[in-house]
Amino acid sequence: MADDDFFKARRKVMQGATAALAAAVTTPALAQPQSQPGTAAGAASAKSGVQDPRPLYPHPPFPVQSQPWPGLAARMTPRPDHGERSYRGSGRLTGRRALITGGDSGIGRATAIAFAREGADVAINYLPQEEEDAREVVELIRAAGRKAVALPGDIRDEAFCKSLVDKAVSALGGLDILVNNAGRQQSHDSILDITTDAFDWTLKTNVYALFWITKAAIPHMPAGAAIINTASVNAYDPSENLLDYACTKAAIANFTKGLAKQMAKRGIRVNAVAPGPFWTPLQVSGGQTEANLKEFGAKTPMGRPGQPAEIATVYVQLASSESSYVTGQVYGASGGSGQP
Ligand code: NAD
Ligand code: MG
Repeated sequence: MADDDFFKARRKVMQGATAALAAAVTTPALAQPQSQPGTAAGAASAKSGVQDPRPLYPHPPFPVQSQPWPGLAARMTPRPDHGERSYRGSGRLTGRRALITGGDSGIGRATAIAFAREGADVAINYLPQEEEDAREVVELIRAAGRKAVALPGDIRDEAFCKSLVDKAVSALGGLDILVNNAGRQQSHDSILDITTDAFDWTLKTNVYALFWITKAAIPHMPAGAAIINTASVNAYDPSENLLDYACTKAAIANFTKGLAKQMAKRGIRVNAVAPGPFWTPLQVSGGQTEANLKEFGAKTPMGRPGQPAEIATVYVQLASSESSYVTGQVYGASGGSGQP
């Protein structure tokens, strides 16, 4: 069997297996487009595969909810859609080895699923409290026929960051893609409420850890490798209740552009993604005020938050060798408002 045929056949088998597993870990109502057959949008969709993005996913108001930090996707209402039932790979990352921080839930989880279905082996980092979410991701990666490596631990610790990279490299046999995605966001109405400890916690998670992990990873990365950081629309237009968080996201966007200039000499591309409002545990575990959460995403032109499944493809695009001239960029996905 030719290589191409082999991969096509394997993808077909894997898509069946992943669909079965995904059905067990998602709420079917969320994973399906909400447009009705017979409506203009439904008809267009049936004929050409084109989908109207407006009715695809839940709109505010959302039910009042709160979880202890760091939160679990499994306990959110509605449950986020990470692409468990929808993402279809096409071999864009065949044979790549990827490390994704915060890969248990939200944007990192959607990216892990997409990478695996594109043919990559994936190591995920997360906190020990998130084991329940992480287990599901590990199963989904394996169901895609790829290697999954679970590496729990707290990235605020420099020694742990170094060992995380070492363990990922040895378990995967190398490292081609690093996704710095883990993040800490806690809402405070006033600067007067932000303690030094809280400020330090946010900066350690979002900036120091990204610096430590990236520094440890680069010596292992070949020419052609890709680093993808997760910034935010807050980098450019800071929310008044997220002072400490927003400034870390500005730092990440800046770090990305500077590092890209250095890494071009090694053939390593460095980009960032800047999400707008996405429906993830970060937001329901102290990341937003109750009022903001109820109306989450309402202020965007799309009138709703994004679901993690709607941004994973940006990470795939930036990781793929097809983007060989794309480096030092910050890509947005924000429902129509915000920069870059
Ligand atoms: P999420 O809660 O699903 O993911 C964040 C992850 O960060 C957690 O799952 C956790 O594993 C990890 N994390 C936090 N502190 C850690 C620590 N000390 N050690 C190890 N891991 C730690 O939420 P998400 O929204 O998918 O967040 C992913 C990234 O997206 C974050 O960088 C966040 O700032 C960014 N972002 C999110 C939004 C949004 O609206 N959800 C918008 C812009 C940017
Ligand atoms: Mg999580």
